[in-house]
Amino acid sequence: MRVLFVASEAAPFAKTGGLADVAGALPGALSRLGCDVTLVTPAYRDVFAKGLGIDDTGLSFEVPLGGRRLTARILRSTLPGTDVPVFLIANEGCFDRPTLYGGTEDYADNAERFIFFSRAALELAGRQDRPVDILHCHDWQAGLVPAYRKLVYHAWPMLSQARSVMTIHNMAYQGLFWHWDMLLTGFDWKHFNWQQMEFYGQLGFLKTGLVFADAITTVSPTYAREIQHAPGGCGLEGVLAARGDALSGIVNGIDTTVWNPRTDRHIPRTYGPDDVAEGKFAARVALAARLGRAAPDPRPLVALVGRLVEQKGIELVIEMLGRVAGQGRARFVILGTGSAETEEALRRVAASYPDAIEVVIGFDEEFAHLIFAAADIVLVPSRYEPCGLTQLYAQRYGAIPVVRATGGLVDTVIDATQASLAAGTASGFVFEAFDSFALEHAIDRALGVRSDEGLWSRLVRQVMAQDWSWDTSARAYLDLFERVRRADPVAVA
Ligand code: ADP
Repeated sequence: MRVLFVASEAAPFAKTGGLADVAGALPGALSRLGCDVTLVTPAYRDVFAKGLGIDDTGLSFEVPLGGRRLTARILRSTLPGTDVPVFLIANEGCFDRPTLYGGTEDYADNAERFIFFSRAALELAGRQDRPVDILHCHDWQAGLVPAYRKLVYHAWPMLSQARSVMTIHNMAYQGLFWHWDMLLTGFDWKHFNWQQMEFYGQLGFLKTGLVFADAITTVSPTYAREIQHAPGGCGLEGVLAARGDALSGIVNGIDTTVWNPRTDRHIPRTYGPDDVAEGKFAARVALAARLGRAAPDPRPLVALVGRLVEQKGIELVIEMLGRVAGQGRARFVILGTGSAETEEALRRVAASYPDAIEVVIGFDEEFAHLIFAAADIVLVPSRYEPCGLTQLYAQRYGAIPVVRATGGLVDTVIDATQASLAAGTASGFVFEAFDSFALEHAIDRALGVRSDEGLWSRLVRQVMAQDWSWDTSARAYLDLFERVRRADPVAVA
């Protein structure tokens, strides 16, 4: 089975969110199952600063873009810890920029950049010496790949048997661009209709992928159900419901070579279930030092790591902190970047309770590891959450997640009730309503269990023992790939 994995970010090359974690780990897991996987990703400026060993293959070719042609230079590396080849598509004009997609405003030419990337990935595949079975396309940035395969590259020998699988990591990011960008794609205008590429007058990259792909997946079974209705589908619920038979959910795993408290290089003392207390204490000393404090705070540490955007329920956290931080029962640490207003609102509430709240604005991978190791409780109060990774990292590091009952959080966290605690199946605290009081109540419940040392330490050990490695999920992807390969391709008019 030969799989070409097309993703706009992949850890450790470049990362803005969970997609990078998936694209950095799933190819390796598939390869361990015997799949022949190649990853294709852009050569952003970022990727060269990481000491990853990137070579020029000497291969370059022209990619049509409207009336112009842009040169794609092909660089090569390997996904660390695996034998998965990584091809990086280089073009200075498109990718030699300070960030991946833009800052507070997206780059104005993102349509052009990812049309180029998608076509370049197929042009590259077409020039390889072995045929591709599955094009595994991720998010809107690779949304045009299934359409290019069906409409443009279907007769290329290396691509003629290929099926495409479109994976959605977040329905809220759809890659909507003005209709004239159709001219850059080279697709016939006849496809610019509401059943194919058009979304209310705009060109929809993700929509195109959903229509043209042979199968669609998303990153949890619950999210797969939620997106077939409003508001989860973000306007594409009709398209997704119509393709319901082709849509399935597979929960993300975690890269246990990166996220493992037993081997983590970013924490002062590695640990496992048996010495979690010592490991956490050392992490808290290091965290205190990092935050400019002489000694760690003895109170339970409640943390949040994530993008500070509406999706993540930060408004609930701010409201909750306004009521709870003054009570002195816990210490809160928040690490994230996001919208200017949210960052400012967090800073303001932190300034009111300097003894209880620490807000660190920034994207800092190492610091994230230290926080999961130090924390007792990790908050994931999302409005919606396709899968969510921080609750899985938290569990692995012996921090108990407090999550809202949405998307992948439902599939990965079992609420700690008397019954589930007794049965040894509890793995966090779940609240339903998108409401700061519901969040506060769940934190109260967690702190209640935390005050019973024996019960808490049993819960922590049991949560740490769960297996969230990629093995199970990679097998589910492989089964799907096999089914898709055997089935007839989806016909398009
Ligand atoms: P999303 O993809 O919606 O951002 P996920 O929970 O799936 O959410 O993945 C987020 C990933 O990004 C996790 O690996 C998380 O640790 C990481 N992350 C988010 N914000 C930061 C930050 N400010 N610093 C370091 N890592 C972060």
